[in-house]
Amino acid sequence: MAATSRGTSPVPPDARPRLTVLSGPSGVGKSTVVAHMRKVHPEVWLSVSATTRKPRPGERNGVHYFFVDDEEFDKLVANGELLEWAEFAGNRYGTPRRAVLDRLEAGEPVLLEIDLQGARLVRQSMPDARLVFLAPPSWEELVRRLTGRGTEAPDVIERRLAAAKVELAAEAEFDTTLVNTSVEDVARELLTLMLQASGLRGTDG
Ligand code: 5GP
Repeated sequence: MAATSRGTSPVPPDARPRLTVLSGPSGVGKSTVVAHMRKVHPEVWLSVSATTRKPRPGERNGVHYFFVDDEEFDKLVANGELLEWAEFAGNRYGTPRRAVLDRLEAGEPVLLEIDLQGARLVRQSMPDARLVFLAPPSWEELVRRLTGRGTEAPDVIERRLAAAKVELAAEAEFDTTLVNTSVEDVARELLTLMLQASGLRGTDG
């Protein structure tokens, strides 16, 4: 099921930089894939979202998220500064618009890691975006990952499991599915998709 389009298709001469959106159920490992990208491919520009969620241990403001309070988030929304935003498990998350558009205008590939509602909003506002669905190897594995993180209260886990069920059904809306069997493989396949989308030539890095 994993996309293995690596190195197979020539880049069209008129290819434009495209937005790549990585989405999928909570706990599937989106942020682990993105963390791996950040480490192994620091040249890939990742959008940093604003959120009203409190930082988890090890998360840094401006790197993993811009941590803002409700009032600041309201202002971002009111001023039209977010490309999309959504409420997820009691917190709000949004993509700062300007930074993303600047990168795309500069011809650089852009990666967003956002929830399903956000992915749908991006589909509407930027139909050129490539939507990538990160799927778990199995439902059992997803439950294990969601309950094993150990950082969330039981009611939060319950809400996330319920959301994950709904989100799994959305796979058909996406352009590409990557099954998260290995972080390295997913990151490599994602990078290849991004470089195709932008008209740059990929490496196997
Ligand atoms: P977490 O709290 O685990 O970091 O993230 C919870 C969910 O919010 C994840 O599914 C993550 O992809 C999503 N998310 C993170 N940033 C954004 C954003 O800017 N917009 C939207 N719509 N979802 C986001």
